[in-house]
Amino acid sequence: MDLLDTLTAKGLRGEVPTREEALAVLATTDDELLDVVAAAGKVRRRWFGRRVKLNYLVNLKSGLCPEDCNYCSQRLGSKAEILKYTWLKPDQAAEAARAGVAGGAKRVCLVASGRGPTDRDIDRVTDTMAAIQEADPEVEICVCLGLLSDNQAERLKAAGADAYNHNLNTSEKTYGDITTTHTYADRVDTVKKAHGAGLSACSGLIAGMGESDEDLVDVVFALRELGSDSVPVNFLIPFEGTPLAKEWNLTPQRCLRILAMVRFVNPDTEVRIAGGREVHLRSMQPLGLHLANSIFLGDYLTSEGQAGQTDLDMIKDAGFEVEGAGEATLPRHRADVAAASSAASACGTAASACGSGGGCGPCGGHAHAPASEDTAASAAEDADASDGELRSDLVKVRLRGAGTELAPNA
Ligand code: SF4
Repeated sequence: MDLLDTLTAKGLRGEVPTREEALAVLATTDDELLDVVAAAGKVRRRWFGRRVKLNYLVNLKSGLCPEDCNYCSQRLGSKAEILKYTWLKPDQAAEAARAGVAGGAKRVCLVASGRGPTDRDIDRVTDTMAAIQEADPEVEICVCLGLLSDNQAERLKAAGADAYNHNLNTSEKTYGDITTTHTYADRVDTVKKAHGAGLSACSGLIAGMGESDEDLVDVVFALRELGSDSVPVNFLIPFEGTPLAKEWNLTPQRCLRILAMVRFVNPDTEVRIAGGREVHLRSMQPLGLHLANSIFLGDYLTSEGQAGQTDLDMIKDAGFEVEGAGEATLPRHRADVAAASSAASACGTAASACGSGGGCGPCGGHAHAPASEDTAASAAEDADASDGELRSDLVKVRLRGAGTELAPNA
């Protein structure tokens, strides 16, 4: 297939495909799926070998958010029966983080619901990072607290944070359909603030909200242009009690096509399969490892993942290996760019045009017209595969780990 040969050759050189080529990946058929995975898998192995980076989520503050992101179980007015609690104490968060690190996680992701942190919240997270790093000085820490105000990113960097997550989630033109309390531009601004402060930028998307192929391609190219070092790909978890509870329009095949497209557009960037992995890829999860080089271990913010040991067994059975604490995640040329950004920030140089988004959750959206007949055929195929099928039995609310008396899943 000429398309796949072209994309593989570009990916091996670290080149980004055209928008049309990215759309064509999403329009491939199920008969072509294994060829697509094989082609993108070559690109993945070129830059990341067979390593899988494990990340561990600690939800510092759960639910009760004043924002109205339609995809989020913690949103304003959510009826989802999730855990709701205010800030964990530093020792409680450190205990949860230790479980993740003991399970093999290289990075701990500290997340709090809300529009954005107050300066007092930055103090709390500073204390929490100190408690975590006291127990394990090697662990990478990514912080996700929503929209940042001036100087907050610099304070997090000075306190020892390695990265900041803020997801763009979907395309600029669709953003207003999923959230009204803040804008796409607000999100881009926070990604730039984080990157400008020398934090590694983690910013990704949520698929399955009813968006078009063009929306997906738009947001993935936007993330590349922002210079996101890590791109989490969430697949919408349609929680009962949220506006997108009925958006069950993903199939495992569609998820794999999306991951392949993200890999081709971000050949040398960390691509992470994030929320919704178990819910939507199901028994096809191991194929996703041929595309992404990073996953979350164990549970998510408000929902349960599969057992941490099952994650580890899957990685081993599929012929991959867990990335060690001493191994660099990004290829050397990408790591150098990140270091240069950090150095520029440290010496007071104005922030570059880079940055990545971060965010606190997965999304939902509205249907848009497919771009072409091919895309329409692909969309119809995907729709047929899940026609009217509600699988809320696959969504299990997290009732263990952080914020509970029960041991974390790691
Ligand atoms: S995604 Fe974040 S900002 Fe949006 S409702 Fe959820 S917790 Fe609040």
